[in-house]
Amino acid sequence: VDIEDPIEITNGKVHHEKTAKEYVHVARLAFNTGRTRNLKYRKEQLLKLLKMYQETAEDMVAALYKDLRKPKQESYNTEVDLIINDLKNILDNFKSYTTSDYPPKPLANMCDTVEIKKDPYGVVLIIGAWNYPIQLSLLPVAGAIAAGNCIILKPSEIAVETADYIARTLPKYLDKECYQVFLGGVTETTDLLRERFDYIFFTGSPMVGKIVNEAAAKYLTPVTLELGGKSPAYIDDNTNIELTARRLIWGKTVNAGQTCVAPDYVLCSKNTQDKLLSVVGKIVKEMFGDNVQDSKDICRIITDRHFNRLINLLNSATVGYGGDYDPQDRYIGPTILIDVKPNDVIMQEEIFGPLLPVINVESVYEAITFINLNEKPLALYIFSKNQKNINLILESTSSGGVTVNDTLMHVVCESLPFGGVGNSGLGSYHGKQSFDTFTHRKSVLRKSFNPLMEKMQSVKYPPYSDGKMKF
Ligand code: NAD
Repeated sequence: VDIEDPIEITNGKVHHEKTAKEYVHVARLAFNTGRTRNLKYRKEQLLKLLKMYQETAEDMVAALYKDLRKPKQESYNTEVDLIINDLKNILDNFKSYTTSDYPPKPLANMCDTVEIKKDPYGVVLIIGAWNYPIQLSLLPVAGAIAAGNCIILKPSEIAVETADYIARTLPKYLDKECYQVFLGGVTETTDLLRERFDYIFFTGSPMVGKIVNEAAAKYLTPVTLELGGKSPAYIDDNTNIELTARRLIWGKTVNAGQTCVAPDYVLCSKNTQDKLLSVVGKIVKEMFGDNVQDSKDICRIITDRHFNRLINLLNSATVGYGGDYDPQDRYIGPTILIDVKPNDVIMQEEIFGPLLPVINVESVYEAITFINLNEKPLALYIFSKNQKNINLILESTSSGGVTVNDTLMHVVCESLPFGGVGNSGLGSYHGKQSFDTFTHRKSVLRKSFNPLMEKMQSVKYPPYSDGKMKF
């Protein structure tokens, strides 16, 4: 199969000359040559990927600006630096990650070799989301290459410019047969999901995650599902309210709140809510100046469709702070919503924008009950000086991850695996876990022909007897 596929994009629709089946076929043939099993080859490809990151970082920033008006520093801090650091970590530890493990030997295997080999799965499908369109596509790519797989990468069609950058740039640096980019939206992803893969790594909504999981089940393909949901932030009465507010507002305004681990809503007492509202104006001004819309440091909402959904949510609740927006510019200012009840429309879906509803609770126990009545969140934030309350929440709730006294930061801590639980996801990646996710740990027992051991172990052969059973 010829791998060149002249793609045409008209009115946002992608026209491929090659089918999804042909893409997968090329990747399958490439995997079967065995070249991605070679460690030297893998390392060369990873170094080329690093070269691509270093030489084209400004192109990434430009694409992110066009898609989301992402500020340059935010692009580096939350996308470019993240993929570079993750890749450098893989390269620095490449030998130890790829070397077989030799676990302790049981007595019966003292003359044998007991080994756990790090096997690639084969051809993997990586499907990205639009909100951090660089890192959500490329971070898993590095792990999958390091582990020796071939890849079909399907970036999100919604972050148009970034998808275009990835599709144009990756083939200039990497092996074009082993690592292919397939552009498209729902139709094209549906075509891909009909094919057989050896692993599927999906980032997106829980709803589409279920579609992916169903497609994978047809071939019993293992999956990682990096999903989303409503991540709560509990604020204790005993906290540093100014720092709490600053870190909360930062977590809700990075990428204009379009972050899978953004604090979705706040749980706190009425008293703490009043304190929060009394400091928020000063903090927003410190970060974005007198007129937030004029600031260069705040993103825009990705599309009109997403903007209109958020405005409907905003109009369904009482504004405690902010509430300004501009449809021409797809701008929404940092907003706190009050008098929110659990059954309100804003509490029924992931917000994914700079709107922060506050639900009043009377105690830490009420907060725990509320969290546990809902789906297991991707992230949980606890702001408190009270270690007993912090530990109580940690012990009584389930979430993908937790940051205490800040937001988002557990995700960028390299040594912590990142992933959800239950409705917020399945599996994890980042750091060593990125390599492990794309690796099958193959148990290998190499038996010796040692005659003494054979004699000792010959009790396993028939004819059986009561005497033999004792061994
Ligand atoms: P999405 O589920 O709509 O789309 C994700 C991907 O699936 C895209 O590539 C899209 O083309 C494809 N897709 C969409 N509908 C499909 C269908 N019916 N069949 C097959 N493929 C389909 O998600 P999104 O809007 O791109 O991203 C937002 C969601 O992703 C939020 O829920 C957010 O919390 C979550 N998210 C999770 C993480 C994480 O790491 N856990 C990171 C970012 C975003």
